[in-house]
Amino acid sequence: MFKLNRYYSIASLIGIGIAVFILSLFFNQLALQTLMENQTRANTDLTHSFANSVWQQFDVFFTDASQLSANDIKSRSELKALQQIMRSRMKNTTIVKVKIYNLNGLTIFSTDPSQIGSDKSQNPGFLQAKSGTPASEITFRNEFYAFEKVIVDRNLISSYIPIHDSQQRIKAVFEVYSDVTPLVEHMDSTQQKIILGVLAALGVLYIFLYLIVRRADCIIRLQNLEREANEEKMRFQAYHDSLTELPNRHAFIERIDEAIKRAVRHSESGALLFLDLDRFKLVNDSLGHDAGDTLLKIVAQRIQSCLRETDLVFRLSGDEFVIILEDLKSPETASNVARRVLQEMAKPVMLNEYEVIINISIGITIFPKADNSADSLLNEADIAMYQAKKVNQNHFEFYVEEMNTRANERFQLETDLQHALQNNEFTLYYQTKVSADTLQTCSLEALIRWNHPTKGLITPDHFIPLLEDTGLIYEVGSWVIRTACQQAQHWLKQGIPALRLSVNVSAKQFRNPSLLSTVKSALSESGLKAEHLELELTETMFIDNTEHAIATMHLLKEIGVKLSIDDFGSGYSSLSYLKNFPVDFLKIDRSFIKDLDTNSKDTAITTAIIALAKSLNLRLIAEGVENNNQMTFLREQQCDELQGYLFSKPLPADQVVKQLTHQSTEDSQPV
Ligand code: C2E
Ligand code: MG
Ligand code: MG
Repeated sequence: MFKLNRYYSIASLIGIGIAVFILSLFFNQLALQTLMENQTRANTDLTHSFANSVWQQFDVFFTDASQLSANDIKSRSELKALQQIMRSRMKNTTIVKVKIYNLNGLTIFSTDPSQIGSDKSQNPGFLQAKSGTPASEITFRNEFYAFEKVIVDRNLISSYIPIHDSQQRIKAVFEVYSDVTPLVEHMDSTQQKIILGVLAALGVLYIFLYLIVRRADCIIRLQNLEREANEEKMRFQAYHDSLTELPNRHAFIERIDEAIKRAVRHSESGALLFLDLDRFKLVNDSLGHDAGDTLLKIVAQRIQSCLRETDLVFRLSGDEFVIILEDLKSPETASNVARRVLQEMAKPVMLNEYEVIINISIGITIFPKADNSADSLLNEADIAMYQAKKVNQNHFEFYVEEMNTRANERFQLETDLQHALQNNEFTLYYQTKVSADTLQTCSLEALIRWNHPTKGLITPDHFIPLLEDTGLIYEVGSWVIRTACQQAQHWLKQGIPALRLSVNVSAKQFRNPSLLSTVKSALSESGLKAEHLELELTETMFIDNTEHAIATMHLLKEIGVKLSIDDFGSGYSSLSYLKNFPVDFLKIDRSFIKDLDTNSKDTAITTAIIALAKSLNLRLIAEGVENNNQMTFLREQQCDELQGYLFSKPLPADQVVKQLTHQSTEDSQPV
C-alpha cells in the first residue's frame, strides 16, 4: 500500500542530502575563490613592497643575473644580503617562500637557495604573470621547505606577480608562497558551521513537514479504509438482501449459472429448491409488517440451519427463498433437505405474543437439463412449488414436465380474465341467509361466478387471487357492487320484500380510495337505499393500516351502508379491533362450523365467538351450515342468522327469485 510518509521521508532525505552537497560545493568554491582573490591581492601588495625595498639596492645584481649561470649567481655576494633582507621582511608574515624570475624564466633568487638557477620559463603561472596578469594557485603540501624550517601539512597559495619598471614594463616575475592553512581551516570550520546550520534548519523543516505529511497520510489511510468499507458495504448490499442478509436474486443468477456449468463439466447433478411461505401475506396483514419481517428472518435462519456449509440459500423476494444444492448423489438428497426444512418450519414461532405456525411449500427441480438456463430452472422449481402448495400446505414436490402445462393453464386463465368483463362473462349468484329464529330468508349474499367460454362456470377461489394479482379486482369489484345494487332494486320493484344484500369486498379493493365513490354511485344509479346494502370485509384487511380502515368504515357507515366481518376467526387479528370498528355483523368462519358436532374445540370457539358478539352488541351470522345438528346448536346458542347449503346453495338471480317468491307465497299461506 502506498505510504505517503515513507515516500516523503526517503524523497526529502535524498533532497536534503543533495541540497547540502550542492551547498557545500558552492560554498567551498565561493570561499576558495574569495580566499584566492584576497590572497593574490595581499601577495601582490607584499611583493610590490618587497620589490620596492630591494630593487634599487640590487638592481645591478638583477641585471647581471640574467647573464649568469646558476652557480655564478649562487656565488654572488649580493645574494646573501638579499637573502637576509627578504627573510627579515618575511618574518611575521604568512609568506614562506619568495622567488624571483627574470623574463626568461630563470630563477635568479629564491629564499630556498637550492632553487636558484632553475628554469620556469614554461610554467603557466609564470607565463601569465609575464603577460601582465598575476596568477595564483592553492596547493596542499605534506612537506614544504620554508626559509627557516620544513613545514608540514600546509595549504599554500603561490602567486606569480609581475614587477614593472618606471615605464610600466615588466622587468621580472616574483613568486610568493603564502601559508593560508589557518585561513583554510577557518574557512572549513565556517563551512561546517553553515552546513550544520542549514542541516538543522532543513531538519526542523523536515520534521515539521513530516508531521503534516504523517497526519495527511493518516487521514488518507482512514479515508481509504472508509472508502473500502463503503465499497464493501455497497458490494454486499448489491448482492444481499438487507433484511435477512441472505444473498439476493442478483447473487442467485450468478451462482446458479456457475453451479450449472460446474455440474456439466464434472458430470454431476444439482438441485434447485424454490421455497414459498404459505399465507405469509396473512401474517403481514394481520400482525403487521414488523412481525412479517421478524418471521422472514427466523425463516432464513431456520433454512440455513438445515443446510451444509457448501449449500447456498438466497432470498429472491418477499417470502420466496431458493436453495442450490450441488454435487447430489441422488435426488433423494434433495428431498431429505426439503424434509428437514419442512420439519424445522413446523416448530411454532412467537410473533407479537401470538404463536404462529409457518407452513412452507417447496418445489424442486434437478439440473443440468437440456435447457440449462437459470430462468427455466427457476420457472420449473416455481411451478413445482405451486403444485406443492395446491396439494397440501407444508409439502414439497419435484418438477415434472406436465406441471408446465398446468402453469400455462394458469397463465392462460390470467390472459382470459383480461377480456372477461368486456365479454360479459361474469355473473352473480345469490345465496340466502336465514333468520335463526324464523328460518325465513332475511338477507342475500352476492357471489361472483365466471362463465368461461370453454371451461364453463368457474368459482371465485380460482380467479379472485388472479384478479388481485393483476389489479383487475378494482374494475370487477365495482361491477359486482353496481350489478348487486341494480339487482336488489329490481327485486324490490318486482314486489319481493326488501332484503339486505351483501357484497364481498377484497382487501385490495377496500384499500382503494375510490371504493366510497363506487358505492355511492352504485346506490344513486340503482336507487337502492343504502341500508339495504351490506359490505362483507375480511378481518385481514383491517390490521395493515388500521386508521385508514376505521376512517373508510366510518365514511361507509355515514352513508348508511351495513358492514360485516367475513370469515371471522380465520386470521391472526387482534380481537381488540372489534371495539373500534363500526361493524354490524360478524360472520363466523365456515371452518369452525364444519366440525361443530364432532370437534369439541370448534364448539368451544364458536360458543366463545357468539358470546363475544353478544357482549359487543354485534349480530352474528354462521356460514357453512350444512346439517340439522349444526343448525340446532347454533339456534340454541342464539346465533342471529344462518347461511349454508342446508338452506340454499348460491343460485343465479332468476332461480333465487323463484325461491323467494315461493317462500313469500308459503308465508302468506295460513299456518
Ligand atoms: P365467502 O364470502 O366466505 O362466501 C362463502 C363461500 O362459502 C361461497 O363460496 C359459498 O358458495 C360457500 N358456501 C356457502 N355455504 C356453504 C356450505 O354450506 N358449505 C360449503 N362447503 N360452502 C358453502 P364461493 O361462492 O365459491 O366464494 C368463495 C369466496 O370467494 C367467498 O367466500 C368470498 O370471499 C369470495 N368472493 C365471492 N364473490 C366475491 C366477490 O364478488 N368479490 C370478492 N372480492 N370476493 C368474492
Ligand atoms: Mg362472504
Ligand atoms: Mg365467508
